[in-house]
Amino acid sequence: MEDRIYPIAIIGGGSAGTMAALRAVLNNDETLFFPGSGKDKKKSRGFWVRKVENVPGHLGYKRGIEDPNKESLDWLASGEFKEKFHWKKGRGITSVVKRPTGGFELTDTKGEMYIARFVIIATGVMDIQPHIDESIQPILPYANVQVVDYCIRCDGHHTLGKHVTVIGHTSDSVWVGALLKERYDCPVHILTNGSNPEFDETTKKLIQAWNFKVSTEKIVNVIGKEKEGILEGYELEGGEKIETNFSFISLGMIVYNELAKSLGVEVDDRGFSITDAKGQTNVEGVYAAGDLRAGLKKQIYTAWDSAVDSADHINGILRREKRKKAFEDAGVKI
Ligand SMILES: Cc1cc2nc3c(=O)[nH]c(=O)nc-3n(C[C@H](O)[C@H](O)[C@H](O)COP(=O)(O)OP(=O)(O)OC[C@H]3O[C@@H](n4cnc5c(N)ncnc54)[C@H](O)[C@@H]3O)c2cc1C
Repeated sequence: MEDRIYPIAIIGGGSAGTMAALRAVLNNDETLFFPGSGKDKKKSRGFWVRKVENVPGHLGYKRGIEDPNKESLDWLASGEFKEKFHWKKGRGITSVVKRPTGGFELTDTKGEMYIARFVIIATGVMDIQPHIDESIQPILPYANVQVVDYCIRCDGHHTLGKHVTVIGHTSDSVWVGALLKERYDCPVHILTNGSNPEFDETTKKLIQAWNFKVSTEKIVNVIGKEKEGILEGYELEGGEKIETNFSFISLGMIVYNELAKSLGVEVDDRGFSITDAKGQTNVEGVYAAGDLRAGLKKQIYTAWDSAVDSADHINGILRREKRKKAFEDAGVKI
C-alpha cells in the first residue's frame, strides 16, 4: 500500500463522479478517481443513456453521458492540472474502511490499497427491469432505442402522439401514467405483469377519471421490430395482445449504497444516502453525490450540482487549514 495520503478519493465515474473529479482537480486538490470496473459501469445508469435532449449542449452526442464525460476527463488528464488527477481507469472500489488515525483506506478491484482523507461516493442507482418470460432480456433492445423508457423528466416528451403502456403495479405507476396523460394527452394502459395491483384510493380514482386500462396478466412476449426500434405491443398470458408503441417502466430502483452503508452512512427508507446541503453524510469525511444522494432529482444537472457541493465543501476545509497555518507562520493573531 502507498503510504501517501491523498486529500480526496472519488468513487464512481458517472455524471456525479466525473463532475466531482472536474471540480476537485480544478480546485487544485489532489484527487484519486475510481470510475468503476467494466462490471460496475454496466450496472450504472449513465452507461446506458443514449440521446440526452433535456440538457443544453448534449444533442450531438450518441452516448449523452459517457461521451461528454470522457471528453472532460481526457482534457483533465492531459492539461495543466494533470499532476493532481489520478485516474484509475477501469477500477472500482471493493471496500472503504475508516482508519482509527483519520482518513479512509480504499481497496480497488485489482487489490491495490490507497488512503484518502475525504471520500465522495457517487455509485448511482439502477432502474428495476420487468421480467418477461423469466428474463429481463426481451425488453432491453427496446430500452436501448428508447421506445421503452424509465425517466419522465428525461424522456416523458417522447410519448407525445403515442399509445402508452406503463409497466408497474403500484400507485407510483398510476402517477407516471397520470403525468404523461396530463402533459401529452396520450392514452394509457397499465400492465401489472402478473403482480397484484397496489393502487391506493386516490390512484384508483385517477384510473377512473383518465379512463386508464389495467391488465394484470403476465407479459409473455414483446411484439415489435427490434432492429428498426419499433415497439408494437405485448402478448399477455392467456393470449391477449396489447397494442402500444411506447412504454414506461415504473418498478422502482436498486440503490448502489453498499459502500456507503459499510461505512455507517445513514440511508432513507428507499436506500438513498442522507446528507446535509453540502452532500456530507453522518460519517465525517464521507460525502454522497448524484443519484445515490437522497432528496435530489435523479438527473444529470442535479448530479453535477451535488458533486460540486461536495468537492467545494472539502476544498473549503482544506483551504481553512492552509489559512490557519499561514496565520500561524506569519505570527498573525486571529
Ligand atoms: C434510460 C435513462 C435515460 C436518462 N436520460 C437522462 C436525460 O436525458 N437527462 C438527464 O438529466 N438524466 C437522464 N437520466 C438520468 C441520469 O442517467 C442519472 O441522473 C445520472 O446518470 C446520475 O449520475 P450518477 O453519477 O449519480 O450515477 P451513474 O451515472 O449511474 O454512475 C454511477 C457510477 O458509479 C460507478 N460505480 C458503481 N459502483 C462502483 C464501485 N464499487 N467502485 C467504483 N465505481 C463504481 C459506475 O461505474 C458508474 O460510473 C437517464 C436515466 C436513464 C436510466
